Amino acid sequence: MMNKSCKNNKKSQKNHKFADIFSKISVFFDKYLFPDDIKCIFCGKDIPLFYEKPYCENCEKDLVFNKGNRCLICDMPIKNEAKICDFCQNNKRYFKKAYCPFIYKDKIRQAILSYKFDNRRYMAKGFAVLIAKYINDLKVDLITFVPMTKKKQKERSFNQAERLANELGKLLNIPVIKALEKIKDTDEQKVLDYKERSKNLKDAFRIINRDLIKDKSVLLVDDILTTCATINTCAEYLSKNSTVYVTAIARNIPE
Ligand SMILES: [Zn+2]
Ligand SMILES: [Zn+2]
Repeated sequence: MMNKSCKNNKKSQKNHKFADIFSKISVFFDKYLFPDDIKCIFCGKDIPLFYEKPYCENCEKDLVFNKGNRCLICDMPIKNEAKICDFCQNNKRYFKKAYCPFIYKDKIRQAILSYKFDNRRYMAKGFAVLIAKYINDLKVDLITFVPMTKKKQKERSFNQAERLANELGKLLNIPVIKALEKIKDTDEQKVLDYKERSKNLKDAFRIINRDLIKDKSVLLVDDILTTCATINTCAEYLSKNSTVYVTAIARNIPE
């Protein structure tokens, strides 16, 4: 007669088998629905070296790379020879340096919008490849991301910054943690100026897992940087006992 532990064992094997089959099916559908590794993230054309360039030659022509003289802190292009932009001179930054490989324009802008609002999650891997190349030899202990409120995440079905952080973590072999939580929506803030926005944002976030980031260097991920008000608020929370770097796919230039 079968004893209890043997029965449980059988049951767990059965559950395991189901989980295994289920995971194989979902990997298959993931690959089928979200082809990656071989296709241009912008147009879907097959490309030879995804981890070198996740886009085709045709799309490359339309990309606006972030280059030339840039602010040493926030990575914003500067028209003159200054090292630090006016924005960073007038507002305290809680991160050491920002990294944004692209200017938020044309093809990259369309691609980010599509990634966020058309639920094209597979694009995150290509964006992560681009960020990894751009941050080059930056060494960090942990990766984290700008959080969304639960409500917002439910509406959009995923957090674009979290997905990006996870792909970046896999690529660079760095642990990804959830260090912050967003507890209040701040959509109405578009009408506010920078100082008012920052004040408003301060109550919207909360730190969780403070012990995990203690004395660590942390890379904080978002999709786009504009005034850096949001990411700077998040960095302020993290910077109390860790060194913060930030990254995003693209730099939007504030008017
Ligand atoms: Zn293409
Ligand atoms: Zn700056």
